[in-house]
Amino acid sequence: MANKRKVVIIGAGIVGLATALKVGQRLDNAEITVLERNHEVLSETSRYNSGVIHSGIHQKSNLLKSRLAPRGGQELIRFCEENDVRFRRTGMLIAAASRDLAGLTRELSSLYRLRKNSRRLNLKLHVLSRYGIEKIEPNIRALLGIYLSEVWVVDQLSLGAALLKACQNAGISIVFEANVQNIVRCRNLYEIYTKSSKSGAIKVFEGSIVVNAAGVNSDTIASAAGFPRYKIYPCRGEYYEVIGEKSSLVSNTLIYPALPPGHPVKGIHLTKTAAGRLLIGPNAKSWESKFDNFRIQTPPAEFLDGAKRFLPELTESDLKWAYSGLRAKTNPGVGEDDFVIRFEAHHPHFINLVGIESPGLTASFAIGDYVVSGFSSHGF
Ligand SMILES: Cc1cc2nc3c(=O)[nH]c(=O)nc-3n(C[C@H](O)[C@H](O)[C@H](O)COP(=O)(O)OP(=O)(O)OC[C@H]3O[C@@H](n4cnc5c(N)ncnc54)[C@H](O)[C@@H]3O)c2cc1C
Repeated sequence: MANKRKVVIIGAGIVGLATALKVGQRLDNAEITVLERNHEVLSETSRYNSGVIHSGIHQKSNLLKSRLAPRGGQELIRFCEENDVRFRRTGMLIAAASRDLAGLTRELSSLYRLRKNSRRLNLKLHVLSRYGIEKIEPNIRALLGIYLSEVWVVDQLSLGAALLKACQNAGISIVFEANVQNIVRCRNLYEIYTKSSKSGAIKVFEGSIVVNAAGVNSDTIASAAGFPRYKIYPCRGEYYEVIGEKSSLVSNTLIYPALPPGHPVKGIHLTKTAAGRLLIGPNAKSWESKFDNFRIQTPPAEFLDGAKRFLPELTESDLKWAYSGLRAKTNPGVGEDDFVIRFEAHHPHFINLVGIESPGLTASFAIGDYVVSGFSSHGF
């Protein structure tokens, strides 16, 4: 019997796990190992985000991420249905709520551009007047909005549990507490050195194909393997939660501010999570470290301002800091980054997935497909 092909994937976030499943479907004679430095799956950015399965309306239509998000979103929804993942169809309202003329003009222009973008992407949407908005969310104050019904939120913990089970059923081995420290390129093989985050023990794994899905740490992993060209600029997004009775002011719909397509962030929005929490956020702050720190909490003022545009009755005492996540940005300035999925020149068996920020959760299965389609074109 032919030797099994060893595929190593670094990172058990949603992108690493979705890619592992796709590789398993594509190569029937492969031994697939996922190396994860933490003790559980989806423990970093894939857990601490808005959990929205996006339509793609916020992305400029010429980017790889705008091609992958709608396809990936469809498959993620199917995966959730078939694997009892907690998720809910919420729809999304993107609304103009400025009280001053200059702000309102900007927002209306953004809505117009989003609508044009939706046509290019073939998305169904409805334009809603103030009264139309009140019909779907009676407590939301806004003047005009566009409503997309094909938007969902997923519970990240439930998704992680289902992905773990699917990987185990597919014979994929996930090694926890395996912090990748160094990667040595031999002729047809990579030796991947890991240090146990618990005991400090060093272990070596071998892979003839390696996929770097290490999120905000993907530049460090790429450098360790001899590809120093990447740099990640972590950008932190925090959330507050509405506590008490006012958490039911939004019944179901996701409420987003009107920002134009291609804006680097989607703005502070209101998310009713799959578990029924009402979140406000995320903000966007550049962050020096590759590690988050929940003890550092931005005061609530900017979150309250963002939320009060839609829910004027909120006060600071209704809010409690919830969590934060790190975006893996490849660009320190303004402007929208695209996903980088690269089979390295002269070393195509090392595949770097870098800058997988929003909508990376939505696109994850399509990212996996994109990687395995590269296997075919590189003759693996
Ligand atoms: C605030 C915020 C909101 C967002 N909202 C949405 C949204 O609503 N919808 C959407 O589609 N997307 C959203 N995103 C984007 C989405 O969360 C990410 O694109 C996605 O989670 C990236 O997944 P990943 O697997 O690449 O990264 P991660 O989840 O970070 O996984 C990388 C894994 O690699 C591991 N790792 C790193 N270094 C090593 C090492 N040396 N050795 C071993 N393991 C290592 C890490 O521990 C981690 O588990 C949001 C992101 C943020 C920050």
